[in-house]
Amino acid sequence: MGLVKRSFLRACINRSSLDHDLIDYILSPLCAHHEVAKPNNAEELREFVAEINGTITKFNQSLTFVKHPINDKEYLVFAITDATPDKQNYPGMTAAECQYFAIILDKLGHEADGYIAWNEAYAELNFKATARPPSKLRMQMLVQQWTEMGYLLEAHDRLYFGPRSLVELEFYLRFNFPETIKPCHLCKQLVLWDIKCSNCGRKIHRECIRKYLRTRSNCPTCGKKWTTRLSQ
Ligand SMILES: [Zn+2]
Ligand SMILES: [Zn+2]
Repeated sequence: MGLVKRSFLRACINRSSLDHDLIDYILSPLCAHHEVAKPNNAEELREFVAEINGTITKFNQSLTFVKHPINDKEYLVFAITDATPDKQNYPGMTAAECQYFAIILDKLGHEADGYIAWNEAYAELNFKATARPPSKLRMQMLVQQWTEMGYLLEAHDRLYFGPRSLVELEFYLRFNFPETIKPCHLCKQLVLWDIKCSNCGRKIHRECIRKYLRTRSNCPTCGKKWTTRLSQ
């Protein structure tokens, strides 16, 4: 892996999840400094990232592009592919703080609509008796930190799973919340928001159902006529 890719990877690890503005902000001076051509379009950027992945996959790391349905933004996420929340050991975090992370994931995971109001992150928290809960100020700092890392996403005074959770914790979420978190019937990837069939209530990716309905008119899950508007 060349110098530019190595430096870019380091930036990805530090920032954890990057939107395209941030990618550009990091890559432009880096490529200029090393006098190499900057990936010029989406395809070249994907190739550039694929080469980095070729090196880091064996260390259970990945760089993955993911589009977040809530703000419709695409992110490049650095993920540890065998991560689970209880294995998460951020430097400087106490056992109770790691537990707090799992509590928030648990709250989100049990919500059928895939979000909680922002203040629910600080209310009715069931810490194990052995752990002294962090102060409210510390909890607010942690939520902000996890949002910056892409584990959470804040929008409209609500907290959602962020882009990094969608990539890194996909298996964990599927396995632990099978009642609320299900794969899209069409592409088999996780679907947490997007759109619901008004007959069976099953969620499905907007893009997947849009393509599907070009040639059909029924819900792929229940088989009844699809009646939900796609543009909502
Ligand atoms: Zn899908
Ligand atoms: Zn249906």
